[in-house]
Amino acid sequence: MTQHPPEPFRIKMTEPIHLIGPEEREKALQKAGYNVFGIDAKNIFIDLLTDSGTGAMSQHQWAAMMAGDESYAGARSYNRLSEVMQDIFGFKHFVPTHQGRAAENILCAVALQDGQYIPSNMHFDTTEGNIRARGGRPANLVIDEAFNISSQHPFKGNMDLEKLENFIAEVGTENIPFGMITITNNAGGGQPVSMENLRAVSEIYHRHGIPFFIDACRFAENSYFIKQREDGYADKSTLEIARETFSLADGATMSAKKDAIVNIGGFLAVNNDKLFQKICNELILREGFITYGGLAGRDLDAIAVGLREGLDEAYLAYRLGQTAYLGNAIKQAGVPIIEPVGGHAVYIDAGKLLPHIPQADFPGQALAVELYREGGIRGVELGSVAFAYPDPDTGEMVYPELDLVRLAIPRRTYTQSHMDYVAEILGRIAKRGGELKGYRITYEPKLMRHFTAQFEPIA
Ligand SMILES: *Cc1c(COP(=O)(O)O)cnc(C)c1O
Repeated sequence: MTQHPPEPFRIKMTEPIHLIGPEEREKALQKAGYNVFGIDAKNIFIDLLTDSGTGAMSQHQWAAMMAGDESYAGARSYNRLSEVMQDIFGFKHFVPTHQGRAAENILCAVALQDGQYIPSNMHFDTTEGNIRARGGRPANLVIDEAFNISSQHPFKGNMDLEKLENFIAEVGTENIPFGMITITNNAGGGQPVSMENLRAVSEIYHRHGIPFFIDACRFAENSYFIKQREDGYADKSTLEIARETFSLADGATMSAKKDAIVNIGGFLAVNNDKLFQKICNELILREGFITYGGLAGRDLDAIAVGLREGLDEAYLAYRLGQTAYLGNAIKQAGVPIIEPVGGHAVYIDAGKLLPHIPQADFPGQALAVELYREGGIRGVELGSVAFAYPDPDTGEMVYPELDLVRLAIPRRTYTQSHMDYVAEILGRIAKRGGELKGYRITYEPKLMRHFTAQFEPIA
């Protein structure tokens, strides 16, 4: 196959997109308080805000939706999903949820006490938010290579095992109700975690009696990276690799909007019977009955089909190839990115591209705004706006290592010429990067501020 395998599908339904004029774009930015989350989708040309729930479903998924069983309890749709869950993940129990964050909320509600710690390689923003909302303290223990944007380490999502051992010794096992790892590491560039590392992390958690949960959102992409990059896995199928991955854990949270290629859905899976009982009670209170969670029966059918399609190796070769193609094109345009390119997104190092804007003035925000202004493209800031927080002990702002802008690629949605356009726009911005100015926050909520914060340009 070629380096960037062509789409293993053809298009039989299209959705028009439109680039509005520069004055209209400026107006849209002002109206949104310079937060691209606030811009109407009709005013976006290429939307790379997220790969979450934005992909195109296949004809098989749409057909499966027509067979959805909307019974309140024990629907056939649930049974069909259950069978796929058993085959891929193999956990004893699972419940559907309306999204990944609902699974996180329920897990934190039943297993986390005020003041406890949850280690991971890196928590995603919703996971971090859910832990903090219950008074917990998330800890990110990824290997140092994750922060070195030019390191070519093949598994930059790996947990630093020494940091993990030291962390457990420092805070005490009694203060760690469960440990996590995110595959692939979304907050750190969509970088994969090796099987060797997953095995070692599982061993450490279990030696200390700590239950191990995988944030499984991109488990299929992670499985394909393992197949491509890890010794001993080239001849294993992605399904076999996924099974081995989950055999190491006690449970998983998942947003089906990622590697299950659906527009809505998620699940929480566990082995422990007692924990499952508590989860069911919480689920019924917050989401719905245990055989549908917050979803319709047809959604469960779409997930069941999508989970298998997400593991298809021709699809994964195209998927990871397209992301690498965009990454290379952006790099060629003179814009620094995290390398090697991750699975679902290209992460631009806005701090490095705009060194004259200090972290407190949000270089990532400046670049995200400029991408829209120049080309009608929507990305997302994942830097000081999303991740800086006041230290709970001192109140001082703690800034993240990197100020990134993420361009996430929806699954099976955009073509190579869309990617070429994005790289060209970024090249234009890079040429006049020195002119870009920082931003000041005029409104912010307490948690997860990047979704709704308002800004003004610094004169
Ligand atoms: C998207 C995502 C979540 C949250 O899932 P939602 O469906 O958006 O609530 C959690 N963890 C990771 C790694 C994610 O990418």
